[in-house]
Amino acid sequence: MKKVVILGAGFAGLHIFYKLRHLIGEKIDLTVIDARSHSLLKPSLPEVSFEGAPVSHSLVELKHTIESKGATFIQDEVVHIDAQNNTLRLKSGEQVDYGYLFITLGAVKDYDAIPGFREYGYSVCDDVQAQRLWERVKTFEGGNVVTGAAKSVWGTRVDAPPLSAPCEGPIGEIMFMLDYYLSHEKGMERAKQYKIDVFTPGEIFFEDVGDTPRNVVGEIMKERQIDLHNNKVLKEIGKDFIAFEDGTRMPCDLAIVIPPYSAPEVLKTSGVGDEKGFIPTDKQMRHLDYENIFAAGDIAALAQPKLGHIAIIEGAIAAATFMKEIGEDVEIPPHDLEVFCIMNMGGHDATLILSDNLYGGKTDKAIHSPLAKMMKWGFDSYLYYNKGHMPPDFALEATDKLLKLL
Ligand SMILES: Cc1cc2nc3c(=O)[nH]c(=O)nc-3n(C[C@H](O)[C@H](O)[C@H](O)COP(=O)(O)OP(=O)(O)OC[C@H]3O[C@@H](n4cnc5c(N)ncnc54)[C@H](O)[C@@H]3O)c2cc1C
Repeated sequence: MKKVVILGAGFAGLHIFYKLRHLIGEKIDLTVIDARSHSLLKPSLPEVSFEGAPVSHSLVELKHTIESKGATFIQDEVVHIDAQNNTLRLKSGEQVDYGYLFITLGAVKDYDAIPGFREYGYSVCDDVQAQRLWERVKTFEGGNVVTGAAKSVWGTRVDAPPLSAPCEGPIGEIMFMLDYYLSHEKGMERAKQYKIDVFTPGEIFFEDVGDTPRNVVGEIMKERQIDLHNNKVLKEIGKDFIAFEDGTRMPCDLAIVIPPYSAPEVLKTSGVGDEKGFIPTDKQMRHLDYENIFAAGDIAALAQPKLGHIAIIEGAIAAATFMKEIGEDVEIPPHDLEVFCIMNMGGHDATLILSDNLYGGKTDKAIHSPLAKMMKWGFDSYLYYNKGHMPPDFALEATDKLLKLL
């Protein structure tokens, strides 16, 4: 029996778990380790912050979900990986041995890297911040709102697009959902009672897609009087301002930011990551230096942008590479990445974005329609009610093909 450990039960870790579960007790002894008791479905957090949705609908309980399939769940933080000796150390002091290791620890949202964030800043990136933001939004009485992503920095061991901001989709949701809430739910008047400004550290906003989605989103921003500021690298958040590296400032009564992404400390100190701690792999998601270690999702250096959709593609590749190695009759899917996300814009409004422009492809679509909102609702609900289990591959492939035909 091969001893397999999955570190981190987010999008990628859970996808690998479901892909391997038929082998549990037959060919593998599987342990899943996560510091949290519940996996967090981050794509539904904007609904917590701007619609007051219960955070419980973004949480998947892990112990029963994993142990009911015959695997072991350990709720603990991994503090050291000894890749030479195939062992892990947990915060409790427990040592865990592995034969194969999947690293799916995601990326840390480094709020503390932004001076002033803890006092004056808000975010939507985790369950604590999302609920804190909803409390602020409910009582917001008007003024200047500024939202945008901080700049992140990457290692250089693999050839991946070095995006300045790894995930700007939530910024789209923040600006449009907040605008909807303030104008439709609170009856406030745009430009007179509130103003929303957006900044990006990149030369262009939404640098991970092509012109079509950018133009569709840009037009809606114009209609809603939301101004965009490019090349703005966040430096500090103050009581009534937000400051940038180029020396400029904007007046700001409510700052909502995506902080820089960094690797979990354990990867920086265990020597298994690249210069920044992200895991360097080949395109079959195998570690460049350790052949019994795989990685997928936000923590994989190849994953750019950092999206759940990409975590799923890479999770499937990593699981198949491992299964093939232990003699299963499977095909390893190609590392063909694409951006696929549905941007909630408040009310019945949403835009579905599908683009492989970043990787040299020709698909570059944006569908702004209530249908997109229904798809988002359906997809998020499916994940929640199926305990983080993605829809079957044939349904995902059919959706992808259908969207490309539209
Ligand atoms: C607000 C928001 C909205 C988003 N919307 C979308 C969307 O609409 N579509 C989309 O495709 N993507 C979206 N994303 C991105 C998506 O959520 C991530 O890309 C995805 O969660 C990455 O999955 P992952 O498994 O790599 O990491 P994660 O989901 O972050 O999971 C990592 C897991 O590892 C655990 N962990 C970390 N460190 C340790 C440790 N030392 N010891 C033990 N456990 C540890 C964590 O507790 C966590 O459970 C959104 C992100 C945000 C923040």
